[in-house]
Amino acid sequence: MREFSYAKAVDPEEAVRLAGTGARYLGGGTNLVDLMREEIETPTALIDVSGLAQGITETPGGGIEIGAATSNTAVAAHPRVRHDYPMLARAIVSGASGQLRNMATVGGNLLQRTRCAYFYDEAARCNKRSPVSGCDAREGFHRAHAVLGVSEQCIATHPSDMCVALVALDAQVDILGPAGARAVPLEQLHREPGDTPHLETVLAPAELITAVRLPQATVAANSTYRKVRDRASYAFALVSVAAALRVEDGTVSEVRIALGGVASRPWRAHLAERELLGAPATAESFRRAAETEFRAARPSRDNAFKVSLAPRVVADVLEGLIR
Ligand code: SF4
Repeated sequence: MREFSYAKAVDPEEAVRLAGTGARYLGGGTNLVDLMREEIETPTALIDVSGLAQGITETPGGGIEIGAATSNTAVAAHPRVRHDYPMLARAIVSGASGQLRNMATVGGNLLQRTRCAYFYDEAARCNKRSPVSGCDAREGFHRAHAVLGVSEQCIATHPSDMCVALVALDAQVDILGPAGARAVPLEQLHREPGDTPHLETVLAPAELITAVRLPQATVAANSTYRKVRDRASYAFALVSVAAALRVEDGTVSEVRIALGGVASRPWRAHLAERELLGAPATAESFRRAAETEFRAARPSRDNAFKVSLAPRVVADVLEGLIR
C-alpha cells in the first residue's frame, strides 16, 4: 500500500473542502481498502466521512431520507424499511455477511467497484483499471458478466444488491460538491461503459453523496428481492430481481422491476414494466414482458444463459407477489 494522508471530516462541507486532487472519501472501507491493498486505487488522501449523515428520517411527502453514512445493517433493520420497502431490506441482507453490513455505508455501497476478476488482476488487460489497455474478460472467464448495457470495451456487472432495490424504488441521490448541492435519480448516477469504462458515475471531482431519498410508494409495501447465485451464501448475483406489484381484477395496475447481475449498472426494466401495465397478472405475461427487456441483450460466449434465466426469475418473483 502506498502512503496517503488521512483526515476525518466534521461535516459534509468540510469534507468537500478537504477533497483535493487524488483524494477519496472513506465510508466503511469495505471495498476501497481492499482496492488500496491491491494498488488498484491509489489515493493520495483519504477523507473519512463515516461519521457524517447517519440515520433515517421521515420526509414531508411520506418517504424517507437515508444518510449516506448509515450502515447497511441499520437500513435493513429499520422498521419503516422493513414494512414499506421490504425489497430493500431483503436486497441488503442478501448482499454481504453481517460483519460487512455493519461496516458498509449506503454511500459506499452506491460507489463500490465491479468484482470482475481481471479488474483486480494487475497482470490482466482491463479498460476499467487501465484505459485503452483491452478487456481480457471478453474472451476469458465471463460467465458472471453483463448482457445489458455492455460495450466492446467492458462487460462488467455492477455488483450492488442494494442499488437494484433502490433503482426500483425511484431513489434520489443528494450530492454536495464544490459547485454546491444537487440531486440526481439513482438510475442516472451510474454510467454505461461505452468507450470510457473507467468513468463509472456522473459525479464530478470532489462531489460527495450525502443522502439517498425514497419517495413514498404504496406498491413498494408488496415487494421483494430474489438473488440467484452459484452458492447459497454471499456470492455475487448471476441474476437478481427487485420487484413490486399491485393487481386489480386480475390485471397489473402497478409494477416495478429492476435487475442485478445482468447489466453494467443497476437496471430498471422499463420495457417490461410498460408491457405489463394493464396486462393479465399471469406467469406467462410476466415472462413475456421480461423477455422484451432482454431483446437488446448482448451476451458473450458463456453467459447467454442469463437471457433465458432472468425472465423466468422475474416471472416467478412477480407470481409470488400476486395478492
Ligand atoms: Fe476490465 Fe470491464 Fe473487461 Fe472486466 S469486463 S476486464 S472490468 S474492462
